[in-house]
Amino acid sequence: APYCADKEDFKNSELQLGTEATRSGIVSIITKRYVNVSKNLVYMLPEGRVLIEALGENNYLTSVLTSGRMERYLKQIQKGEGSVSSFVKRTEDITKEIVEKLIKDAASWNFVEYAKDIQKAEEVGLCKKCGAPVLERETFYSCSNFKKTNCDFRISKVVAGKPISKENIKKLFTTGQTSLIKGFKSQKKPDKMFEAFLGWDEDKNKLIFKFPQ
Ligand SMILES: [Zn+2]
Repeated sequence: APYCADKEDFKNSELQLGTEATRSGIVSIITKRYVNVSKNLVYMLPEGRVLIEALGENNYLTSVLTSGRMERYLKQIQKGEGSVSSFVKRTEDITKEIVEKLIKDAASWNFVEYAKDIQKAEEVGLCKKCGAPVLERETFYSCSNFKKTNCDFRISKVVAGKPISKENIKKLFTTGQTSLIKGFKSQKKPDKMFEAFLGWDEDKNKLIFKFPQ
């Protein structure tokens, strides 16, 4: 076969995921639709969980080897060493196999809980950067515009080691600051706790501590 996904090729360093030109597009689609990235940590969105479960064990779709071997064979065709018709035939066979497997798998899909997560994201206030609704996610609150305009407004649910309640986040949006919160951990001295209000610095566009007088 001109290409197939088998583990032998993991050893083959010439295999690549996509090309230089397509790679950044792939990453940007992933970060817009399926995950949220905050301070170098990647958080899965419910949309991402649906995708992963739906693809499941469909190895042709989930393995980098499929794309890698396709790219490699296309290069061979370029050099006159590969056959276009066997490439097309192989692609047809794989596509048929993938679709048949997905139809079979779909019978056992249950995405009700994820759908609820996606639809029921609660609005906690309006974005400080663009004014769109800010929605509650699993580990943070983020601007609902992030998929459309890349607005990166986001507040973590845990600040300086202290979980921030939804009531306090709503208060931050309506009054400009939270209630006095106790139990923040100092970054330099983790044993030392401190208390502060949380506010939003409009100029620096970031969350700030406001200390009681
Ligand atoms: Zn926004």
